[in-house]
Amino acid sequence: MVKMGSAFNLGKVFGIQFRLHYTWFIIFVLVTVSLSWQYFPFAYPGRGQLLYWVLGTVTSLLFFASVVAHELAHSLVSRINGIPVRSITLFIFGGVAQITREAARPGAELRMAAAGPACSLVIGGLFYLLWLFTRGVIEPIAALAEWLFIINIAVAVFNLIPGFPLDGGRVFRSLLWHFTGNYKRSTQIAVRVGQGVGYLFILAGILIVFLRPFGLSWFNGVWLAFIGWFLENAASSSYRQVQWQDALRGFSASQVMTSDSPVVPPNITVSELVQGYLLTSGHHFFMVTNEGRLEGILTLENIKSVPQQSWNMTQVKEIMTPVDKLKVAHPDQDALSVLEQMEENAINQIPVVSGDRVIGLIARDNLIRFLRTRSELGM
Ligand SMILES: [Zn+2]
Repeated sequence: MVKMGSAFNLGKVFGIQFRLHYTWFIIFVLVTVSLSWQYFPFAYPGRGQLLYWVLGTVTSLLFFASVVAHELAHSLVSRINGIPVRSITLFIFGGVAQITREAARPGAELRMAAAGPACSLVIGGLFYLLWLFTRGVIEPIAALAEWLFIINIAVAVFNLIPGFPLDGGRVFRSLLWHFTGNYKRSTQIAVRVGQGVGYLFILAGILIVFLRPFGLSWFNGVWLAFIGWFLENAASSSYRQVQWQDALRGFSASQVMTSDSPVVPPNITVSELVQGYLLTSGHHFFMVTNEGRLEGILTLENIKSVPQQSWNMTQVKEIMTPVDKLKVAHPDQDALSVLEQMEENAINQIPVVSGDRVIGLIARDNLIRFLRTRSELGM
């Protein structure tokens, strides 16, 4: 599963935080190297290697800008439809926009999903025109334009594969949704198609590795199978996400929190904490409060950071994560947005705070238990 973590902040465009996933560096280097070593020397022979590197790097950067434009198109259209976009993470195969919620109507989803591929097609068309005008006149620019024309069309076509969660899968779902009126069922079908497309890619990849048809190399097969694996994974994990969203819809933080979360005072020592609370309660997470006011939280990791011989001399408040560095939830906050908040910050627990009082705790396992119990009761 592709995690949203392991990404670098690039800065904000139109109020949207852009993040760069580390896999992007791998693809950037691969693209630049293959352009500079293979594509440009072949398309525009007899020049110095330095020129090829410059052309390769510029072309890679323009490819990157094309992907950003594709994602911006999604985001701007979704904003027009009243759905703000928090952040966009750029991955190896494009980007993932972190929209704050799903579209409420199939028409809005259709427009949001189609905007990206449409943008890629337009950019591809512009590079096609550039290629037409520079061909035979300014050869290096023509070679650059030709590659960017092809890659942008390829990005559009790849994203239009009708498997969820690709853009094409979203377009497909919005159409199903429009004609059946059933959001959940439409999502299930689009996800199944997405998994099917993933398995087809894997199968085709394996066949290529063993049979090598049409002069394809084993490397093409491995690459295809890898894309298939990625698609299957993305479909499955987005389905789990949709199930969660569906189950949590309509609940507030105060309804899913536990209010028996362990509370410890700030001035006890670590050894008192370990003896008096940690070993006996079995909890691995504590809220440090002073007369009901939250001062910080304490996890097993915090405790382990102190060597055992210092446990007698170290107070809890010295090693806790203080409240000003803490993510907190509000009691009437949407349970789903709390989950998203935990996912975004890669944390497993979040205190629920009303004013400056802690009233409960939401942990990931609580949410899972909450949902499981409800489904066992058939609710
Ligand atoms: Zn897209």
